[in-house]
Amino acid sequence: MGKRKSRKAAKVPPKKKEKLDTAFDCPFCNHRASVECTIDFKERIAVATCGVCKEAYHTDANALTEPVDVYSEWIDACELANEGVVVDRRCRRSEGDDDDDEF
Ligand SMILES: [Zn+2]
Repeated sequence: MGKRKSRKAAKVPPKKKEKLDTAFDCPFCNHRASVECTIDFKERIAVATCGVCKEAYHTDANALTEPVDVYSEWIDACELANEGVVVDRRCRRSEGDDDDDEF
């Protein structure tokens, strides 16, 4: 009695084609997987757009650009912006301007 060796034993569930490849968390509204990257290889433009807050980032693309590159570039740009931003609150000039305290 031979062992029944089923050739189909190795049943691998069909891999879902994840569309998540191009979906990332938004750095602005923090929505999960709301950012989609599209790369126009013809125009050499890559765009990452958040479907929730509509924030978008454009950058140059080349043949090797992948969605994740666009996204990480966006993140970098955000971080740079955050770091570099000197909070530009124009302090009101209270240099004896019109500052009549009548107390
Ligand atoms: Zn967003």
